[in-house]
Amino acid sequence: SSAQGYAYDFFYFVQQWPGSYCDTSSGCCYPTYGKPPSDFGIHGLWPNYNNGSYPANCDPNNPFAISQIQDLVSSLQTNWPSLSCPSSDSSSFWQHEWDKHGTCSETVLNQHGYFQAALNLKSKTGLLSCLKSAGISPNGGSYTLTNVKAAIKTCIGHTPYVECNKDASSRYQLYQVYTCVDHSGTTLIDCPVFPTSGACPTSFIFPSF
Ligand code: 5GP
Ligand code: 5GP
Ligand code: 5GP
Repeated sequence: SSAQGYAYDFFYFVQQWPGSYCDTSSGCCYPTYGKPPSDFGIHGLWPNYNNGSYPANCDPNNPFAISQIQDLVSSLQTNWPSLSCPSSDSSSFWQHEWDKHGTCSETVLNQHGYFQAALNLKSKTGLLSCLKSAGISPNGGSYTLTNVKAAIKTCIGHTPYVECNKDASSRYQLYQVYTCVDHSGTTLIDCPVFPTSGACPTSFIFPSF
């Protein structure tokens, strides 16, 4: 832990492209409340250490309680939808993320603060409009990793990490974007360390949703 005594050093704020979750060979299920918008969705806000490792499942005594975020549920349904099967109201995804990751930052963000911080970061990063303004659109076209990263850096001032997966025809596609956030969960920062998962080739598809 750092000199300030925080139990983590920074956050990865991870957003997923729903088209790339859904068009894999595993498929997806829309939430019970309907198809999410054609926009990046939140995957999670993950406490991390500067050496690349991370804490998880930090406090079983502080389990997810939807009663603490009632005022955020409508916004979470739109901005943090679950696309896993079977269809759900997405709350099991929020529960998983809070229990696994959120409890590791509970000394800084309580449950309401954690979910509010993620929603604020989604709007602050404005990822889809950022990419579109650089001519990078979810239209099934092919884009280079260099250009995608440069476009996001232009918008948010920091280089992101881009993760790819494969569609049902084994074509690489843009799956997740990681940005780094200071320990307070509010300020975007240069990443102290980049993830290593989800390798991307030089160019890949940005599928529609
Ligand atoms: P995967 O193996 O699919 O990359 O990751 C599985 C899960 O492990 C993620 O959804 C996340 O919960 C956690 N995870 C993977 N990599 C990282 C990381 O670098 N930092 C943190 N905090 N969690 C991670
Ligand atoms: P991680 O541990 O990888 O942060 O979270 C992934 C877990 O959340 C898995 O158990 C996965 O089934 C579940 N999950 C539910 N909805 C979604 C979704 O829309 N996207 C992803 N990546 N995982 C989801
Ligand atoms: P460099 O650090 O020279 O930019 O990249 C080193 C290696 O990491 C290269 O193979 C490059 O393709 C890969 N890489 C760099 N940035 C990213 C990224 O955001 N996502 C993925 N998946 N690979 C990256």
